[in-house]
Amino acid sequence: MSQTEIPRSTSKPARDIWTEVTPQAMYDKLVAVSRNLWWSWHPEVVSLFRDLDPVRWRQLDHNPVALLAEMTPDQVAQRASEMVLFTRINQAHRRLRDYLKNTQSTWGAREGGVLGSMPVAYFSAEFGIHESVPIYSGGLGVLSGDHIKSASGLGVPLVAIGLFYDQGYFKQQLDREGWQNEEYQDTKVENLAMEPANDKNGKPIMVTIDTLDGKLMAKVWLMRVGRVPLYLLDCDVEGNRPEDRELTSRLYGGDLRTRIRQELVLGVGGVKALRALGIHPGVYHLNEGHSGFAPLEVIRERMSDDGLSFDDALRDVAQHTVFTTHTPVPAGHDRFEGKLIEEHLGPLRQHLGISYDQLMGLGRVEPQNEQETFCMTVIGLKLSRRANAVSSLHGQVSRRMWSNLWPWRVEEEIPIGHITNGVHVPSWLAHPMQLLYDRYLGPDWLGNVGDSETWQKVYEIDPGELWETHNALKSRLLEFVRRRVSRQCRRRNEDEAAVETARTVLDPSALTIGFARRFATYKRADLFMKNLDQFAELIDDVNHPVQFIFSGKAHPADEPGKKLIQAIANLRHDPRLANKIVFVEDYDINVGRHLTQGVDVWLNNPRRPLEASGTSGQKVVLNGGLNCSVLDGWWAEAYNGKNGFAIGLGKQHVDTALGDQRDADELMRVLRDEVIPLFYDRDADGLPKQWIGHMSNSIASLAARFSAHRMVMDYVKSAYLVAAGGLSSDMNMR
Ligand SMILES: *Cc1c(COP(=O)(O)O)cnc(C)c1O
Repeated sequence: MSQTEIPRSTSKPARDIWTEVTPQAMYDKLVAVSRNLWWSWHPEVVSLFRDLDPVRWRQLDHNPVALLAEMTPDQVAQRASEMVLFTRINQAHRRLRDYLKNTQSTWGAREGGVLGSMPVAYFSAEFGIHESVPIYSGGLGVLSGDHIKSASGLGVPLVAIGLFYDQGYFKQQLDREGWQNEEYQDTKVENLAMEPANDKNGKPIMVTIDTLDGKLMAKVWLMRVGRVPLYLLDCDVEGNRPEDRELTSRLYGGDLRTRIRQELVLGVGGVKALRALGIHPGVYHLNEGHSGFAPLEVIRERMSDDGLSFDDALRDVAQHTVFTTHTPVPAGHDRFEGKLIEEHLGPLRQHLGISYDQLMGLGRVEPQNEQETFCMTVIGLKLSRRANAVSSLHGQVSRRMWSNLWPWRVEEEIPIGHITNGVHVPSWLAHPMQLLYDRYLGPDWLGNVGDSETWQKVYEIDPGELWETHNALKSRLLEFVRRRVSRQCRRRNEDEAAVETARTVLDPSALTIGFARRFATYKRADLFMKNLDQFAELIDDVNHPVQFIFSGKAHPADEPGKKLIQAIANLRHDPRLANKIVFVEDYDINVGRHLTQGVDVWLNNPRRPLEASGTSGQKVVLNGGLNCSVLDGWWAEAYNGKNGFAIGLGKQHVDTALGDQRDADELMRVLRDEVIPLFYDRDADGLPKQWIGHMSNSIASLAARFSAHRMVMDYVKSAYLVAAGGLSSDMNMR
């Protein structure tokens, strides 16, 4: 490469390794970039890593740390000169460096006020940041990941606390009968961009939690997610009993005792870790009830540091605590027996100077009711002064659900507001779409994705161009699905004919509908099967073909969920549907990204109102797909008649079976009368003009409102700033 390609920094001394072009210097730059997950939402940087070795890149789950560990600096240099990568390496490195330095001109610096010196501590049991970092299971984790990425982008002072699961969540494989098998794999710590977190004296942090049954210890890892540090507690340390060393191995594994111990580590251990780090949060944000014990430890600190009484400390800590509830499904709220609570919180309770009954009362709707177990959502609500649900409808449902906590208030005045979930645009937007938006949406549109104005220029995009870009993404999805499905067949030792069929499955010109999520029964993945014959006839129309791609895991203990998967996976044996319905194994962020970027339609048909928000459909919007959904969660406030399709009228049914049948009929009607005709209504150029009109309307009306940037700005304005200032709360999140 020529010398002129090397960026020269005038302010730096001459011996700056970053201006050298030795193989080692190039390699070090790549390593530096790989060690901040910032790379994962920059497509130019992702493709830089891919270009180093496309085959290994795929095999290693798109993990640049693992990829670079396999290569020597000389191999990297060789490859870089073949592929002319030097400029791109320098650019990636410089962009990251500038991003980390530039904290003064961000939205957070302008609007974040007092948060600057007292950051938000954001607690979550899982973080979905990238497929190569397997510490998430599904929607909650992806939401947390998107939250901290947008906090980073906006420059909101925030640190995140989670758990490090060295086996993560399971890998899913279906056997020949379509039955889900789970496999857990050890994650190699050295392949992750994390390092031990050190205390003020540079020593690795170890937190210790007393229980009545002995001490529980955890070390702390630091993972960098853009400007946000993510601290992960890990119980696999010497000194813990063998069973405790495995405590944080798996997400949502084990029994209730495992669960409460994990939550003790997350909440109480997390607060202790912050203290050891010398971080003094101004706000504690508990994302879901799992971290509900955290405020108890903060109360203990306030009592011992400032000599407050328990009641005064509680009042004070609650002012600084924000709680987000995520599920309207009763079984989705963690509950523990008094015995487990006392075993794990007994020592802390004694420090707080409160009785067993007082402690239990904090987790009960009726504090004196000894029949009631300890509920993590209840303690979250009681120890926070600002609580929110994750969509408008979920807010209504939550106020009703928890109205007994405030029996003296009418339902509208139950202090649970809502902030609707959103998605991190750079993470979910396909690169070709980004390039298209670059040309139409004006300069720095990516910096203003939370602003509706930004997206209005979408109407100026040439319809043909929008359609072609979408179709290129759809082809990419079908390639991906064929590769995956034929690999599935090969693994199951199916005959060559089956593998060959899989290699050409699906038709690029057919209307393609995606459905992927956790296979919980209330999400009704099998709704279309209630009218299977009618359905088969509808989609098997040579002139108007329709095809479906399914994906999703069932919780290992969820037999009915596994049966649903099996029923759908086995439709491949139905000759009417064989080439029209595929099931892609092992749903994760990678599968989710391909699907949401390539489908024509995203189908969502939960039993209303059990879907608190949902976010996959929001990812689809960004990429030009249309939603076809029950009016539940985010869609209940998003649908305007021209930006997608609604199943049903937004009513609840008292009789579940009857409701399911009505929705199944309605699903069939919407597909037959609205979705399919609109998609196949082509003009002389072969363009579905009206469909493309829906695409533009969907992007223009929804992209900003359902972005994580908008969501985080809402949290800052209506929750964090109030909590940090200790202002009286008027719960105006509704
Ligand atoms: C976006 C996403 C989710 C959230 O999905 P919903 O079904 O919309 O709640 C879950 N899992 C993965 C892998 C995702 O990417």
